[in-house]
Amino acid sequence: MTERSTSDWHAKAAQLNIGAKMIIDGQSVDAASGRTFASHSPIDGRHLADVASGSQEDVDIAVAVARRAFEDGRWSARPPAERKLVLRRLADLIRAHRDELALLETLDMGKPISDSTSIDVRAVANCFDWYGEAIDKIYDEIAPTARDAVAMVTKEPLGVVAAVVPWNFPMLMASWKVAPALATGNSVVLKPAEQSSLSAIRLAQLALEAGVPAGVFNVVTGDGPEVGRALGLHMDVDGLFFTGSTQVGKYFMEYSAQSNLKRLGLELGGKSPNIILSSYRDTKHAATTSAHSAFFNQGEMCTCPSRLIVDRAVHDEVVETLIEVSKSYAPGDPLDPATSMGAMVDARHTGRVMEFVEHAKTDGADVVTGGTMARQDTGGSYIAPTIFDNATNDMRIAQEEIFGPLLTVIPVESVEEAVKVANDSCYGLASAVWTDDLTTAHQVSKGIRAGLVYVNCYDCDDMTTPFGGFKESGIGRDKSLHAMDKYVELKTTWINIAGRD
Ligand code: NAP
Ligand code: MG
Repeated sequence: MTERSTSDWHAKAAQLNIGAKMIIDGQSVDAASGRTFASHSPIDGRHLADVASGSQEDVDIAVAVARRAFEDGRWSARPPAERKLVLRRLADLIRAHRDELALLETLDMGKPISDSTSIDVRAVANCFDWYGEAIDKIYDEIAPTARDAVAMVTKEPLGVVAAVVPWNFPMLMASWKVAPALATGNSVVLKPAEQSSLSAIRLAQLALEAGVPAGVFNVVTGDGPEVGRALGLHMDVDGLFFTGSTQVGKYFMEYSAQSNLKRLGLELGGKSPNIILSSYRDTKHAATTSAHSAFFNQGEMCTCPSRLIVDRAVHDEVVETLIEVSKSYAPGDPLDPATSMGAMVDARHTGRVMEFVEHAKTDGADVVTGGTMARQDTGGSYIAPTIFDNATNDMRIAQEEIFGPLLTVIPVESVEEAVKVANDSCYGLASAVWTDDLTTAHQVSKGIRAGLVYVNCYDCDDMTTPFGGFKESGIGRDKSLHAMDKYVELKTTWINIAGRD
């Protein structure tokens, strides 16, 4: 594909046709109330669209539509091999609309265009391909009963599935849920985050074009406490799959308990420890990779390695390297293909992140680089990559999820102390250890309570491995074949073949 320049992207952005209505029953519709909310780009504050602002009434309509679609079998009863072809067609359409989808993502939430094209859109297409490919290769079971019975254990779709997702990887977080849910035959109602509704709307339109029947994949846009809550409390939603903050994840447990005990999947926050030991032979490489992962996506990553736990023996070289790498993350125009740090999602979130710079100072950490906002003349929201050194794990910058480009360095004296500090967190999403000692690698990996442990790398990823957390980082896993279990019920059919005398 031809590489585009900054001015190409700006020209394309100016011409972009942005859909901002909900998708219900295959139609683009306004909110029942007629209400909208304004979507502004964090790149420069430009007005992007007035997005339909849904309410209980829209949720009721969408859920009823999804239920009807599920019951009449227009999708749920289609042979897996046919559903596969449709999902693979959707993957092709996503790739064919790469630039448009990448632009929507970048304009809406501020990430660099080079990441939107090469990471987000590519991963979203791959996700639909992968689950599409899987569904006609998975068999049900016959249980090992006595000879007088045949007991079949079959998988059936849950029914109406709702997905509520965040803004940091808007399309990808939606796809990790929508793809396996559709693959297994469910009908879906998706609620994107208010800050990033545009790509979800376009994705649902492309799904229709690919042949997902009307009513099977619906999008209701709007506010979390209104639309998200209505889905969480809905008596006719069978499963709710959420990615977002731990606080809101807890609300969804309450909604489920207060309504119909709908099944929940919760992918929540993190405060991931990244341990660099002196037994790793290339300190500079470890520090460089760690800095890239900490500042990737403006630090707006649930797996952000935001606590760098470093062996005192290599501390100085690590911090020196971090500062050096941070220079390549000076915030730039997200539509410039050379930019590696884009805009923060919005001004409110930027304000929250900046408060942690003050917390760091009050609690006694050293701000060794950054700590300031950037590009303020643009009208957008930007923060310079920031490093706090000589922190301790009881500080707020070490305990709370910041979700910004703020990296906390905590020096330790031993491997044992490193693991203890790593586990001293309410979260348990991702983690890493850098060591060339095989025994240490295994011991640390077993010692850390987290869903992901990287050894001598960070953020290595494909669709084959489960993704999710221990402790307050959530319940259940996205990605891999394991994720499909969330979207199906197991049914036992026991057939008596004893015969009658
Ligand atoms: P958030 O505030 O929890 O919002 C996530 C979604 O929930 C949004 O669609 C939001 O809608 C909705 N929501 C908010 N309040 C709600 C309520 N009272 N009832 C029902 N729904 C509600 O999270 P965020 O700020 O968008 O995203 C950042 C968080 O996501 C971080 O904590 C991050 O760690 C987590 N995350 C986790 C993973 C993972 O896989 N573990 C991946 C990515 C992100 P509105 O925004 O429209 O109000
Ligand atoms: Mg939010």
